[in-house]
Amino acid sequence: MQLGAFKISKVVVVGDLYVGKTSLINRFCKDIFDRDYKATIGVDFEIERFEIAGVPYNLQIWDTAGQEKFKCIASAYYRGAEVIITVFDLADIQTLDHTKQWLEDALRENEPGSTFVFLVGTKKDLVSDAACERIELDAVRLANEMQAEYWSVSAKTGENVKEFFSRVAALAFEQS
Ligand code: GDP
Ligand code: MG
Repeated sequence: MQLGAFKISKVVVVGDLYVGKTSLINRFCKDIFDRDYKATIGVDFEIERFEIAGVPYNLQIWDTAGQEKFKCIASAYYRGAEVIITVFDLADIQTLDHTKQWLEDALRENEPGSTFVFLVGTKKDLVSDAACERIELDAVRLANEMQAEYWSVSAKTGENVKEFFSRVAALAFEQS
């Protein structure tokens, strides 16, 4: 989408409850981490400003608490997404199994080929490097199936969070 000279891309974050979607967004947009769980209420978005090749550029990052399960909210939430970030919890491997369904729901509301997809394993600080590598074998395979790019991050330590969103912005910017 373009507003005057301003380029803005819609990013939606999907995945099971409690996997760390809000924490990931808060770490990136506000550089904070809150260990207490606060359910996200309704639909919320943050705007993050970038400058790429001298051009002002914004990411509009959408977060929900799962109300996207309701059809009418889902359409509005997913529609026009340029980037879909599918999140699972590295410390709760079942959440990886649900990512395909989340992605399908989001893709259904968008034109084929119009979105970039990321698969992100969160809470990297909670698993050993060995465990992480094991999980990543499955995650990377799934990412390939989804035509997604795989990343692992920790909102708690901040590991890889900035790098990840820089990549999101760079890809979305190229396409816009
Ligand atoms: P959401 O329901 O997907 O939005 O999940 P939240 O972002 O609210 O996080 C759920 C819980 O996991 C909260 O208690 C967070 O503090 C915790 N959490 C989120 N990300 C991390 C992380 O990277 N490391 C650790 N150790 N805990 C995390
Ligand atoms: Mg949340």
